[in-house]
Amino acid sequence: MNYNKKSVKDIDVNGKKVLLRCDFNVPQDKATRAITDDKRIRAALPTIQYLLDNGAAVICCSHLGKPKKVENFREVLTLAPVAKRLGELLNMDVIFATDTIGEDAKAKAAALKPGQILLLENTRFDPREEKNDPEFAKELASMAEIFVSDAFGTVHRAHASTAGVAAYLPAVSGMLIQKELEIMGGALANPKRPFVAILGGAKVSDKLGVINNLLEKADTIIIGGGMAYTFKKAMGYSIGKSLLDEEKIDYCRDMMAKAKEKGVNLLLPVDNMTAPEFADVEPQYSEDGNIPDDQMGMDIGPKSIALFSEAVKDAGTVVWNGPMGVFEFDHFNKGTVAMAQALADSNAITIIGGGDSAAAAKKFGFADKITHISTGGGASLEFLEGKELPGVACLLDK
Ligand code: AMP
Repeated sequence: MNYNKKSVKDIDVNGKKVLLRCDFNVPQDKATRAITDDKRIRAALPTIQYLLDNGAAVICCSHLGKPKKVENFREVLTLAPVAKRLGELLNMDVIFATDTIGEDAKAKAAALKPGQILLLENTRFDPREEKNDPEFAKELASMAEIFVSDAFGTVHRAHASTAGVAAYLPAVSGMLIQKELEIMGGALANPKRPFVAILGGAKVSDKLGVINNLLEKADTIIIGGGMAYTFKKAMGYSIGKSLLDEEKIDYCRDMMAKAKEKGVNLLLPVDNMTAPEFADVEPQYSEDGNIPDDQMGMDIGPKSIALFSEAVKDAGTVVWNGPMGVFEFDHFNKGTVAMAQALADSNAITIIGGGDSAAAAKKFGFADKITHISTGGGASLEFLEGKELPGVACLLDK
């Protein structure tokens, strides 16, 4: 995967009409449809402002929700509230088109002047968006002269507005995607060593590709969270009632053998905090890594925290995806908090690959001490898997 892609700063946008794919998939109140968190709109502002300041006419597009699953989706999932909020944040008029590639969109796009901004209606209102239909992509592209992609959360999907349009327009990244490519792409392509990867979360099966890819690149891989127990089982430990991916025991064995062969230091929890059931109760300590039959592993123990933190201390690059335990429960958040602390204290380039570990770092107040917190959940995982991301592959090479 080539991460060395042109960004909006590598091209001349002056006087050009720019189609900008944003991630305006914002959470909304179910009853009132009020936007409950506008951080995705705020995150789009630097690229929008850059384009406006540099003389472009900006045509924004985005999806919102899953119209296929909503009956009166045209009312429920309209981007009109986003246009309003975007206007408030930019302190300027945001023109809104009531369709995506229809008459209203085309007329408003044609009339758009440099320094003005237009938001098209939800791209997923047209089923051809998710099918990456070339006709739909061509129509969307016909309104602009340049395509700028800035919705990192959707780059793993080959949809018309995330990848298809690039067949018809010169395509570059916006500032958000550029940062993801520079930092996360840089870490994978040419990491400052030692390169330590920390993986956690519930299931081994969700992270198969990530483990496999990181075994090719990392010096140390730390595995915690629920997924660690399938590895421990494969090593012959008793794991009680802990999470187990029965079908993945052989895979874990293979990965441990591969780590050995490649000289990768694979670290697993050596002690655990447990509970008799999945509940926020006073933890019991399983000191030797064997979990009693009537207990389940809910968090890593103090010896594991020390072992993992030590590995992070002298790292050059740390990538973390997935909590070390059930961090939503106060009794079982210590391992996850300690890892966030270890990343915050380290001089390494520290990257949190989206999802729950990003939420944990923010919840426990470490976010501003991390080099980069990726904005895409599924996209970050596929990034770490080394998969080709359609929304990145379609951009012009540097
Ligand atoms: P993921 O989406 O795969 O990153 O998993 C995140 C979820 O894994 C969080 O909701 C955690 O509560 C959960 N998790 C972490 N450790 C454990 C564990 N030991 N047992 C059960 N669930 C866990």
